[in-house]
Amino acid sequence: MSQPRLTWRWVNALGAIAALLLAHGAAAAPAACPREGTLGTSRVLSVNPKNYPRVGLKSFPDTLPLEDGEVVLTFDDGPSPPMTNKVLAALARECVRATFFLVGQPASGRAELVRKIAAEGHTIGHHTFTHAHLAHITPEQAVEEIDRGIAADEKALNGVETTTPSTPFFRFPYFESTPATLELLQSRGIAVFGADFWASDWTAMSPQGTLKLLIRRLEQARKGIILLHDPQPRTVAMLPAFLRYLKDNGYRVVHVVPAKPDVQSEQHSEHPAETAATPREGG
Ligand SMILES: [Zn+2]
Repeated sequence: MSQPRLTWRWVNALGAIAALLLAHGAAAAPAACPREGTLGTSRVLSVNPKNYPRVGLKSFPDTLPLEDGEVVLTFDDGPSPPMTNKVLAALARECVRATFFLVGQPASGRAELVRKIAAEGHTIGHHTFTHAHLAHITPEQAVEEIDRGIAADEKALNGVETTTPSTPFFRFPYFESTPATLELLQSRGIAVFGADFWASDWTAMSPQGTLKLLIRRLEQARKGIILLHDPQPRTVAMLPAFLRYLKDNGYRVVHVVPAKPDVQSEQHSEHPAETAATPREGG
């Protein structure tokens, strides 16, 4: 072996990089894409629930700090094979990272698929245990739905049944929040994701019709959190064309990840590709 020996300068530099990776998690930098001409993930946005407790203009006055042309892709109601696998394949082909809001009951029987979603670098948020109408059940039942959902997702993901989510992102089924559940989630440091617009992919329509509608809404909004559903065949069918549309029209995909607890108090961006979704101190 004739490799040059590591100098202490190099050892220190490698140590600093390792510390950075530990502090920010493996998902901090956009994945390097081995194929040219793909859409890719343009940046990683770390979201601090303290500063962004509720986002999505369809339900709330605030949303994520996205620039013109930036979109966040979110998929609800999975995991649901084989559709979720097809969505993962389409995203992987374009080196795009998204967020999946999982339903706990199906997640609990599909740990392998849940882990695959995470292993491919996507963010896993929570979407209750049975996709219940939380505004139409008792407050106690609503809390149970939220907690059982988180626990089932966590058990599938990490093997640990905990109601403290490793990614504190939640979305209400049917966007049916109540003042009490919103307050509860905020008190627990869990960010509530609404959406800025959607494809209405739950409506009986051809994949082409869904794609046209989604593109029209995107052209109006120019940016935002997009709601899609991975179990929907029409979404699976139109997704590759939609990702191509984004690429061909200069849109950029932003991957949202939770801010690490140790950097939540002092928001900064150590990695050039990562920006914190919090107001910067001193600009
Ligand atoms: Zn849903």
